[in-house]
Amino acid sequence: MSKNQNKTGSYSFFNCIEKNFDKAARFISIEKGLLEQIKACNSVYRMHFPVKIGKEIKVIEAYRVQHSHHKLPCKGGIRYSMKVNQDEIMTLAALMTYKCAIVDVPFGGAKGGIKIDPQTISSENIEKITRRYTSELIKKNFIGPGIDVPAPDYGTGEREMSWIFDTFLSLRSGDVDALACVTGKPVSQGGVRGRKEATGLGVFYGIRELCHVKEDMYSVGLDVGLVGKKIIIQGLGNVGYHAASFFHESGAVIIALAEREGAIYNEKGLNVSKVFLHLKNNGSILNFPEAKNIENTEKALELECDILIPAALENVIHKNNANRIKAKIIGEAANGPITPEADEILDKKGVIIVPDIYLNAGGVTVSYFEWIKNLSHVRYGRMEKKFRENVNAEFLKVIETVCKKKISIEEKKMILRGPREIDLVRSGLEDTMINGFHKIRDLKKSLKIENMRTAAFVLSINKIIDSYEKLGIFP
Ligand code: NAD
Repeated sequence: MSKNQNKTGSYSFFNCIEKNFDKAARFISIEKGLLEQIKACNSVYRMHFPVKIGKEIKVIEAYRVQHSHHKLPCKGGIRYSMKVNQDEIMTLAALMTYKCAIVDVPFGGAKGGIKIDPQTISSENIEKITRRYTSELIKKNFIGPGIDVPAPDYGTGEREMSWIFDTFLSLRSGDVDALACVTGKPVSQGGVRGRKEATGLGVFYGIRELCHVKEDMYSVGLDVGLVGKKIIIQGLGNVGYHAASFFHESGAVIIALAEREGAIYNEKGLNVSKVFLHLKNNGSILNFPEAKNIENTEKALELECDILIPAALENVIHKNNANRIKAKIIGEAANGPITPEADEILDKKGVIIVPDIYLNAGGVTVSYFEWIKNLSHVRYGRMEKKFRENVNAEFLKVIETVCKKKISIEEKKMILRGPREIDLVRSGLEDTMINGFHKIRDLKKSLKIENMRTAAFVLSINKIIDSYEKLGIFP
């Protein structure tokens, strides 16, 4: 048993990431001390604060971890879950550092968490806890547009981000950049169009890119393209729901969806928006009329399929179920869904794993766009939309004159349209995910790296090394 394993022989979550990091370090020749610095968590803030819930005073445990200050501000989501602990938040913060480097987002990694179950607490009390947590962060200088910028994660969304912004503004009134203290806000509160679905859409773009690479598809016995591919998704929350919707729209077949209470299965495919409506109306995905129930939700991961997308929580694919996984591709939409032991088993089986530090980076990419929007105080497209439409109209006139042909009204509408905020955000995200995929793949090929995860770590660590070296602190 290695020194990093606990009594049951498993690794702590942070050790899992260190293990992945060490595998990548074999391909990097740099002084060990710098690698140790990159791996280490720079600041860990563990707090306890009291909140009156009903007639009782409850002591709430919460965290904010800043993994790396090599670029500022730090950036990372906040999760609400009873599983929150220091090891988990440190790991998720580290993943943020590597993720940001891969997609060229100029932030250090961070993560926050509050140990509560939002499903059993009233929204008034969640608001109280969120506001108190924010004021604790402000007191210790752990939040601010140039310091550390939270975002949504498991168990949180636009509503919580709004409360964080409002609390920040009330304690820092007059700060003209206050909107940039948090991302993932509603559009009416300074959010950017396209943030809510960004992580799921990024997952879709990344997997679509892989499915277009003939060599990779043939290596796992699949045809090129997404159409008709059988997909299973675990977790129908923000990331899972949007990923499922984009896959469904593109012609892939969602054969199973798994939630906490159980999973549903239909070999011919599930209509994602109908399932979501059923979930909203009934509080459960089970008993969806066009599907079979699977009572043991974990069993859904083991069904025959082409692509498996875990989009709920970490460590759901482990040494005890990895051998039974039949998917040919696993897209890590969640953070850390595969343990190192399972990773090795799946690698040996030849499964292509698209790693979290690349695949779910769509959220932070669009958060970056939101942060820039907040600092520039202007909506994307506002300055150029009409200008672009006028230029396009002139172009069309010239084309019609030269070709002596009238262009139809439908075609004109399509060509004339200037870019809206959502168009710019989505094209920026698409470009980022496509570039990221090919950078990882090219590096994997050129250095003969065994899998995409290690290649993604090598790419990321090299960029962080470059940033440290150019800081000039290691002459
Ligand atoms: P969410 O809270 O919106 O959704 C999570 C879903 O998973 C919920 O519907 C929950 O009921 C379900 N779930 C919980 N336990 C489950 C189980 N055992 N089996 C099946 N389903 C289960 O959270 P999210 O924001 O979608 O985050 C999901 C994952 O994606 C997390 O690992 C998170 O760190 C990661 N992630 C999120 C973002 C983002 O922008 N929200 C960005 C990057 C990564």
